[in-house]
Amino acid sequence: MAVESGQEEFFDELEIMSPADRKSYHDRKLAETVDYACEHAPAAKLLFHEAGVNPGDVRTVKDLEKLPVTRKTDLLEMQKAGLPFGGVAAIPPEDIERIFISPGPIYEIQPSSIKWFARSFWAAGFRKGDVVINTFTYHMSPAGILFHEGIRDCGATVVVAGTGNTDLQVQIMKDLGVTGFVGTPSFLMTVINRAAELGYDLKRDLSIKRAWFTGEMLAPSLRTTFEGDYGIDTYQAYAVTEPGGAIAYECRAKSGMHLMDEYITEIVDPETGKQLAPGEVGEIVVTPVHNRTWCLIRFGTGDLSSYIAEPCPCGRTAGRITGIVGRAGDAVKVRGMFVVAKQAEQAITGFSEVASHRLIVGRRQHRDELTLQAELKDKGIDEAKLSADLNKKFQDTCRIKLDRIEFVAAGSIPEDKRGITDERKWE
Ligand SMILES: [Zn+2]
Repeated sequence: MAVESGQEEFFDELEIMSPADRKSYHDRKLAETVDYACEHAPAAKLLFHEAGVNPGDVRTVKDLEKLPVTRKTDLLEMQKAGLPFGGVAAIPPEDIERIFISPGPIYEIQPSSIKWFARSFWAAGFRKGDVVINTFTYHMSPAGILFHEGIRDCGATVVVAGTGNTDLQVQIMKDLGVTGFVGTPSFLMTVINRAAELGYDLKRDLSIKRAWFTGEMLAPSLRTTFEGDYGIDTYQAYAVTEPGGAIAYECRAKSGMHLMDEYITEIVDPETGKQLAPGEVGEIVVTPVHNRTWCLIRFGTGDLSSYIAEPCPCGRTAGRITGIVGRAGDAVKVRGMFVVAKQAEQAITGFSEVASHRLIVGRRQHRDELTLQAELKDKGIDEAKLSADLNKKFQDTCRIKLDRIEFVAAGSIPEDKRGITDERKWE
């Protein structure tokens, strides 16, 4: 299963394909998927027909731009019109192994093989001998059972815990000598706090060495708490239910997430569906190409991220994206680049001199202008230096230059005006 290469262990050969091999692998898988989908999944056939595109016209990842993005609301409508699966399933009903239910309700079926799911748990260091508590729900949602199998495929033992009942979860972790946690960061923090209230010493009484998170982003400060205070090595993954799975995962470098090659993952302009370059923030759009059961083409997740072009120090060559920086509705397009309030916040949080801030998008002489207003905690700060530092950090993080920074007195930015305000007038 595992491939040894120097210091690092990889789950399989896909993680270390050369860029040229990866491109041809993606193009080939996509072409096969498109041909199969148009023949066996009525929804795919209709998608191509309505876009006026022949299956043969989509042979490369770039060709996907010819097709529209399907969003959760579209999928819901498709299923309402054609229960139960809205024409996305391409498998005889009697061959379906499991059916999952997402809020909506949206019905999804499990893809035939999910061995590759384990790649993400493997990268987080789960191995045979680990006892891993899975605190995701096994009820309706795919999370519990699919993650369960991913942990098993690394050889580790799974404690089938599911959600809730914190006191019992703490006791289980102690009694069974649980070494790994799978769940959300906030639930792990709840467990840690409860363990302390119950009189346990986390380092003495519990054995948790590593944690795998998905479902919510791990705040850098919380990561520091887990790793620094409690000695728990933490890893994040990005999973989306509707297209059926785990899309991206962190490695030991913990700098962005590697993409699973079972999906074609595009970062697109949410308004036009056009593919964006590394560093540009856009919507994550995924097309599963690993299965012949669930033919969802160009599913728009609504989550915003960007590609990382630089190679990863871990040695994996699989593509990388940054963490999720927001939702498509939160983004404001400024000079062709999407700016997200949360990303701007990341850039500014490190500056202790700034009490709060807001971004204003204006327009002058047919050009967008981006202004940062920053409330200073104290007077007498070297504003020129702070301004230069803020400018640089903002540009490094958001990939767009501020036009100006205005320092304002403490308390002058109303609470409801924080974030991004779009004051452009289109006349
Ligand atoms: Zn890596």
